[in-house]
Amino acid sequence: MTATFTVLSPADGTPVAEVPEHGPEDVAAAAEALRQAQPEWEAMGFAERARWLRKYRDWLLDNETSLAKTLQSETGKPWFEATVEVPYVVEVINYYTKHGARFLADETPRPHNAITMTKRTQVLLRPYPLVGIITPWNFPLALALMDGVPALAAGAAVMVKPSEFTPLVTEAAVAGWAEIGAPPVLACLTGRGPTGAVVVDAVDFVQFTGSTRTGRVIAARAAERLVPVSLELGGKDAMVVLDDADVERAANAAVWGGMCNSGQMCTSVERVYVLEPVYDEFVSRVVATVRKLRQGRDDQNYRYDVGSLANDNQLSIVERHVQDAVAKGATVLAGGKRGASGTFYEPTVLVDVHHGMACMREETFGPVLPIMKVADVDEAVRLANDSGYGLSASVWGKDTARAEQVARRLEAGSVNVNDMFANLFALPVPQAGWKQSGLGYRNWGAAGLRKYCRPQAIVTARVTPAAEPIWYPYSPVKSRLVRKVMRFTMARGLLRRLGLR
Ligand code: NAD
Repeated sequence: MTATFTVLSPADGTPVAEVPEHGPEDVAAAAEALRQAQPEWEAMGFAERARWLRKYRDWLLDNETSLAKTLQSETGKPWFEATVEVPYVVEVINYYTKHGARFLADETPRPHNAITMTKRTQVLLRPYPLVGIITPWNFPLALALMDGVPALAAGAAVMVKPSEFTPLVTEAAVAGWAEIGAPPVLACLTGRGPTGAVVVDAVDFVQFTGSTRTGRVIAARAAERLVPVSLELGGKDAMVVLDDADVERAANAAVWGGMCNSGQMCTSVERVYVLEPVYDEFVSRVVATVRKLRQGRDDQNYRYDVGSLANDNQLSIVERHVQDAVAKGATVLAGGKRGASGTFYEPTVLVDVHHGMACMREETFGPVLPIMKVADVDEAVRLANDSGYGLSASVWGKDTARAEQVARRLEAGSVNVNDMFANLFALPVPQAGWKQSGLGYRNWGAAGLRKYCRPQAIVTARVTPAAEPIWYPYSPVKSRLVRKVMRFTMARGLLRRLGLR
């Protein structure tokens, strides 16, 4: 009998469901079945795969509410946030099905030298047969499918291993793929870390989203197996507020960027640097807005803005960061303590913070906004870059040319100017973590599909004499001829081409 584990509601700790703990045999059997189905999936061509993906999009939309309810039951998200993941995935399907044929088209490079003059050269994009997608708990549906959809579109089969804290909505969404009668190239395997490790050993490409700690373990194992990995890891995103910022918009963005999903976004605002002239106004606006946030266990009628944290471990990290900051001199202007029940932590604003505090250096992943006053742009840039992470950042200033100049100085894979998380909705740009925030990227237009492909060169002779001049037997005459032709076509300047100098 397959072992199981219990999924708990983070809002009140009650059990939500029992889920199989898939072991090595289950993963091996699933991998075998996926590998069997994949060649036909690839061979049917992009147009046919796109047809299945569009059908799946319709299924996701038809089941949007029930998926959101499942997601809410295991994440504790407010209803507003529980309902954004299906539309996100729908947009990913629309984007890749619209442009995918062009992104995956064969290339036929022109000949560039004498040898290739008589050949037909083609580059094909052939998918990795089996892509493994391992996901965290913060966006369980979106993170599984925003990577799963381009991998499927590219012609790969996909095995998803969702987080043990939030497997239910991923399981339900993958069941939809079978429900529409699509080829059996998408499977969900549930379990904890060891199941993920077995998945890493079973696939040809690992797409991982999660902590930097686990990413490092996965990358080391993938290196041993010589399979590629793409890692989307943690962050410590900085927000830089310049002295000409629209302070009201920046403050609203800081509160949303810091508290959205209870601060459990890889791209959450985790630290804010505000230039001295606008610091007081910025802080007072942030505090006023945070104090108005409604926190609680939501149902389906939008009563709350902020939900619980995802689990006890997350709660203790947040608590430790705030306690460490206070012990080192920080002032709490809002929140600062856990809620009455479940894994709630009050939306918190900290000032008088510095880089000796955990809340400014480690990923907090909770509803905590530490704000620091800085003297000038150089100090803001220096502090923003003083981090092991480099996922994303934002810069706020009415002079957008100046703000963009500041953006160029930041060590982060994405920078939004006068906006929050806007890059996440722009599929033609990459989401790429720098430094400890990742390896590789997702999206970036054609590259977002091509990353799941191995390039295959096919070079075909168009002229077929019995033997080519560079084949056996070697002779002085042939050698002189070949060298003369090579030199004539490769050298620059007539005298050099003719071998006269
Ligand atoms: P985690 O690393 O603990 O777990 C992520 C997944 O890895 C889970 O499914 C887990 O079961 C699996 N896993 C654990 N050990 C494994 C192993 N040895 N081999 C294979 N799989 C293993 O991360 P988490 O706590 O679930 O998620 C939070 C983290 O995710 C944060 O650091 C956050 O910043 C990051 N994140 C990053 C992005 C991004 O796009 N950069 C997006 C969302 C979340």
